[in-house]
Amino acid sequence: MPAKIIDGKAFAATVRGQVADHVSRLKDDHGITPGLAVVLVGEDPASQVYVRSKGKQTVEVGMKSVEHKLDASTSEADLLKVIDDLNNDPEIHGILVQLPLPKHLDEDLVINSIAPEKDVDGFHISNVGLLGTGQKSMVPCTPLGCLMMLRDHHGSLSGMDAVVIGRSNIVGKPMAQLLLGDSCTVTIAHSRTKDLPDVVRRADIVVAAVGRPEMVPGDWIKPGATVIDVGINRLDAPEKGEGKTRLVGDVDYDSCAAVAGAITPVPGGVGPMTIACLLANTVTACCRANGLPEPDGLTA
Ligand code: NDP
Repeated sequence: MPAKIIDGKAFAATVRGQVADHVSRLKDDHGITPGLAVVLVGEDPASQVYVRSKGKQTVEVGMKSVEHKLDASTSEADLLKVIDDLNNDPEIHGILVQLPLPKHLDEDLVINSIAPEKDVDGFHISNVGLLGTGQKSMVPCTPLGCLMMLRDHHGSLSGMDAVVIGRSNIVGKPMAQLLLGDSCTVTIAHSRTKDLPDVVRRADIVVAAVGRPEMVPGDWIKPGATVIDVGINRLDAPEKGEGKTRLVGDVDYDSCAAVAGAITPVPGGVGPMTIACLLANTVTACCRANGLPEPDGLTA
């Protein structure tokens, strides 16, 4: 039987709808508009696209969107001042500093200067610690989106064997923590893992977050397993015309889809969920800041 395709684009639209409903209730019942501030330093073209898209979707769900575009040569002190002002702005509930930052800026220092309760990317060391100890935190958006799709597909994840390929701080590690929080038996694989195919073959759930195009072939996948492909890799596609490219994930979609029970496509899988979860985190942060109940199903 062919794998069920987990449609991240449709799921993200549902999440945005839930966020918009909650935003409208916050406005009508409490006169509160959640606000998200995005800080971009420099002119990295990919970052500019992400920031534009985040701003547009923030406005579409009825939230306030603020963008701070700073010159690539901005000093650390000036950037920290912008963040400090946002930390103290009662109309801003979420702050995101678009990464990567120019080389002269200390990323850890900058991220840890965001007030943890406004850290909607979930990268602040306090949120990392809270997630690691199973406490209420702001959860990184990409792993949160993966978790939502897995819960939606399976209901309970309890007792399942999960293998996360990749151990980055922004995807692999928090993904593993979330799966552990849902009582999976979790293995984190990385570039030094021995017998990766054998490790992956044990998994009921495979999350690939590596950054290597189509690295995971179908014969690594246990029949019926669920495959979540986080990878976004751009390959040349001369068949589409000169200079054209196509996006592929970290798994070889066709061979994995032939064996898996369910799979996320690239594009249209994890990617759209990331911004939807950023909006979800902002509304969650706003509710927490105002001592109001959080929306159901929009956080871990
Ligand atoms: P990193 O480069 O930070 O981490 C990659 C991880 O993959 C590392 O832990 C590395 O291991 C591991 N790895 C590399 N080669 C191998 C290998 N041959 N076998 C097993 N493991 C390997 O990447 P990110 O976590 O930031 O991103 C991963 C992918 O997800 C990228 O394609 C990125 O574009 C995509 N991404 C997608 C998002 C979305 O919204 N859909 C959001 C964020 C990322 P080691 O630690 O040993 O070096």
